[in-house]
Amino acid sequence: MTPIRSTFLPYARQSVNDDDCNAVLNVLRSDWLTTGPKVPEFEQAFAAFTDTKHAVAVSNGTAALHTAMYGAGINAGDEVIVPAMTFAASANAAVYLGAKPVFADVDPQTLLIDPKSVESLITAKTKAIVTVDYAGQPCDYDALRAIADKKKIVLIADACHALGGTYKERKVGGLADLSTFSFHPAKTLATGEGGMITTDNPAMALRMRHFRNHGITTDHRERQETGAWFYEMTDLGFNYRLSDIHCALGLSQLKHVPAWTKRRQEIAKKYDTAFSTVKELQSLTVRSGLSHAYHLYVIQLNLERLSADRNAIFRALRDENIGANVHYIPVHLHPFYTKHFGTAPGLCPAAEAAYERILSIPMFASMTDQDADDVIAAVQKVCSRFARG
Ligand SMILES: *Cc1c(COP(=O)(O)O)cnc(C)c1O
Repeated sequence: MTPIRSTFLPYARQSVNDDDCNAVLNVLRSDWLTTGPKVPEFEQAFAAFTDTKHAVAVSNGTAALHTAMYGAGINAGDEVIVPAMTFAASANAAVYLGAKPVFADVDPQTLLIDPKSVESLITAKTKAIVTVDYAGQPCDYDALRAIADKKKIVLIADACHALGGTYKERKVGGLADLSTFSFHPAKTLATGEGGMITTDNPAMALRMRHFRNHGITTDHRERQETGAWFYEMTDLGFNYRLSDIHCALGLSQLKHVPAWTKRRQEIAKKYDTAFSTVKELQSLTVRSGLSHAYHLYVIQLNLERLSADRNAIFRALRDENIGANVHYIPVHLHPFYTKHFGTAPGLCPAAEAAYERILSIPMFASMTDQDADDVIAAVQKVCSRFARG
């Protein structure tokens, strides 16, 4: 069998150009490798990009979630509502603070957190709702905001998929009380490792700045500027700082995000059109009034029409040299959660049903039209090979 492609196409890949490389080299030749000027420069550019007042850079997206939950004042014994269809870190961050993640189900067409499920799970202990803009599509923030306001609870957006997106003309980053981002190379903006939290709340921003620096109230550079040696640790924080090397790369990468988002949307449009006639699968539904950032392009297999399961389709795509992935195993099914939180299959039926049928196919800004056509040809070939009846 001749595969559709002779070389492997991964499901995600970073884009780094010469300007990005030079930005990093300039930092390496400067006086500050960390806690230097590139950190506030990246933070301010990121706040401007997301139309928010404050951005706090941290060492990765998981640290961003932990820091955001600390900033929101989440404590031991609190409950935090989290969608089942997400990366485990969205829930783990609550556990780090001694809180209990409570898993909400998702809408079967969009795989976004279902506001009705959220409402049914609120108790006197609920302190926050974590919204995940799955695949890059912003959640139903009007409905979620209304629930949060009515119950006086904090809205935390895990926006790790959605940088560059908008909801009703408002930028992702400013749609919740706190929004978190990851700069892992699979995400839209890559710094290797890196993360950010955005907020309009100055008190939360200050708490988070202390938290990422051991709970100390001034950083090394601020002390050097004032010539003072004195500092105090007022809270138990972590070392979650992001270095100037990473921030310089992030600052340079941020300039590309609008063009990259446009390119991802173009590829998605090609996929949408091609797959609308493939009966063996469905693309996720995109609601109106928003701009989808397409971190992922997810297809849902119509298993009733296929003589193969998701894993067989995954392997068949690999054989065509097309990379695919599964986002995600519902978090409440992971052994850690079944063991320590008593979760079990049946808790979130829509997320569990989706898990059996989802595949993320290649989606990244530097894909060529030929790459996208190869993906389409491979998906069509594999679906017709396993088509039932
Ligand atoms: C990537 C991701 C994270 C974690 O980010 P890291 O930088 O890998 O720690 C958290 N939540 C979601 C939804 C993600 O996609």
